[in-house]
Amino acid sequence: MQVVEKIAGMRHLRRQLAEPVGFVPTMGYLHDGHLSLVRAARAESRSVVVSIFVNPTQFGPQEDLASYPRDTERDLTLLTKEAVDAVFMPSAAEMYPGRFGVYVDGGKTAGRLEGACRPGHFRGVATVVAKLFNIVRPTRAYFGQKDAQQVAVIKKMVADLNMDLEVVALPTVREPDGLAMSSRNVYLNPAERRAALTLYRSLCLAQRLWREGETDAGLLRRKMVALIEKEPLASIDYVSIAGAETLDELDEVKPPVLVSLAVRIGGTRLIDNIVL
Ligand code: AMP
Repeated sequence: MQVVEKIAGMRHLRRQLAEPVGFVPTMGYLHDGHLSLVRAARAESRSVVVSIFVNPTQFGPQEDLASYPRDTERDLTLLTKEAVDAVFMPSAAEMYPGRFGVYVDGGKTAGRLEGACRPGHFRGVATVVAKLFNIVRPTRAYFGQKDAQQVAVIKKMVADLNMDLEVVALPTVREPDGLAMSSRNVYLNPAERRAALTLYRSLCLAQRLWREGETDAGLLRRKMVALIEKEPLASIDYVSIAGAETLDELDEVKPPVLVSLAVRIGGTRLIDNIVL
């Protein structure tokens, strides 16, 4: 496995990689969710590239850029075991030199949900993913459904900007009790870890009510909110029931529907979703 820190080095290595090239962009501190993407890329490609880059432009000024968990040594050990060909691990200065100035706007999809709570987040995501696509030139890029809106923004960017690659979205990997795996789960103390289950429980409640025939989206939202509000450590950023492609909020549940939420558990902001 080759580890490359410079853009020129990655471009040089890319020219030697056998096609098709599968690519998994990450911010590191890898868990089984990330590794499920790496394994899919490995199974479907002759070459696999993983990037590890905590992208400053997608963090707001009050967010956890400085404290975001990092363990490069462990990440590289895990990726070696997955038979990854190359890891691209640039510095912030390498990706955003002083003269940097052109950004990719995430469009209308980027303005809702996470975008409404985290202004500029998807501009940072779309910009760095576009840069990584230009540097790595993958045949296919793999993303987790855990970040459903990110998948929607990137698919739209690839379509609208005519990028020549396929975007593959894979299911959310969960802990045995249902909590979606996330690098940020490490911030939770034991009481918060228990409280964090409220996200998955509220999604399961919406799914159960819908399966039982409930189609009033407002009612599903209210039931989810009521369940989460029973948890003293939780405070809700949003609970959304939206069209899975447009992300427009719905009055009536008409599949495919994205049920998504962002909830703060103590000081940690967690997101999760399911598709009905
Ligand atoms: P991150 O390192 O958080 O930027 O995530 C890198 C990629 O892994 C993104 O495509 C995420 O959607 C994906 N990912 C993160 N957590 C999970 C999970 N629990 N299941 C599946 N994919 C995930």
